[in-house]
Amino acid sequence: MAILYNAGDDRAQEWRSIFAEALPELDFRLWPSVGEQSDIRYLITWIPPKDVFDICPKLEVVLTISAGVDQLNFSSIPGHVSVVRLLGSDLADTMAEYVAFSALAIHRDMIGYIDDKRRRAWKPIRPRPASSSRIGVMGLGNMGIASIERLRPFGFPLRGWSRSRRDLEGVETFAGWEQLPTFLAGCDILICLVPFTPETRHVLRAEHFSMLPKGAALVNVGRGGHMIEADLLNALSDGQISQAVLDVFADEPLPIDHPFWDHPRILMTPHIGSTSQSSFATAAIVENIKRHRSGRPMIGVIDRSRGY
Ligand code: NDP
Repeated sequence: MAILYNAGDDRAQEWRSIFAEALPELDFRLWPSVGEQSDIRYLITWIPPKDVFDICPKLEVVLTISAGVDQLNFSSIPGHVSVVRLLGSDLADTMAEYVAFSALAIHRDMIGYIDDKRRRAWKPIRPRPASSSRIGVMGLGNMGIASIERLRPFGFPLRGWSRSRRDLEGVETFAGWEQLPTFLAGCDILICLVPFTPETRHVLRAEHFSMLPKGAALVNVGRGGHMIEADLLNALSDGQISQAVLDVFADEPLPIDHPFWDHPRILMTPHIGSTSQSSFATAAIVENIKRHRSGRPMIGVIDRSRGY
């Protein structure tokens, strides 16, 4: 039996030696050197190579090296193949740091100060209490809950929105599209951490921006496809949205002539919200393969009907 690795040649040797120690009974093969095709049971990848399911008819599990799985075309993956996303234990912590940094940057007017510095303008703003910035997190999964826990000690009023109802102590929670307007109406800072699915595509659009309090701020750390970028620019021009922190974009890398680059009220980062360190990623994948081999449930199995 064998694992087929298709997740970057630069790390292949490191992964090979970790797997040799943790799962010595499995051969470790590097795509496209598949060897005996019927040996392959596990595929580690970001996007499965073309035709891999025809080439490897006994493939049972696709293990992605990403937390999101929106890069996958599920219709090309045979129904009997399980798809498992990466849930490295460091991923949510790293994301929570990013969310806390963004919320504090907004709450303490850092985006404006960065622009003031560029213009040599000395314009102090009296700090406001944390209780005046209500923070709403869209998506109460692994990342959303870790972010809420990280924000909690600052004293921001917290609210969250998910597909199914979640009870979180001290957090006002909302579920489903029918409760989205009520959720949005109480978000001074909106944080997008839902997975990217056909349902959540363009959830950050003018219609929903207009449900936020006037002058609310936005943090998009989900996927670029969650937002209509032109709608954000319009909302920033008319003051419906006051500032934004963006980590993800419709086109990545962001095109050089994109209006976001020079926008004084957008703080941007190049899709670095969270990635798993190699050691955490390999540990999570090894654990899932061990679970699968011993008939135990794997962690992070995708429900294809929901798309996440
Ligand atoms: P999870 O699957 O653990 O959680 C997803 C949450 O979103 C759940 O609470 C789910 O609701 C909710 N949700 C899903 N669909 C809907 C919907 N239609 N309406 C309302 N709520 C919905 O995901 P993670 O927390 O692990 O990751 C979230 C996303 O973060 C990833 O999919 C990825 O896009 C992004 N990400 C970004 C990174 C970056 O570097 N910028 C890095 C890693 C991830 P329910 O609880 O009912 O299931």
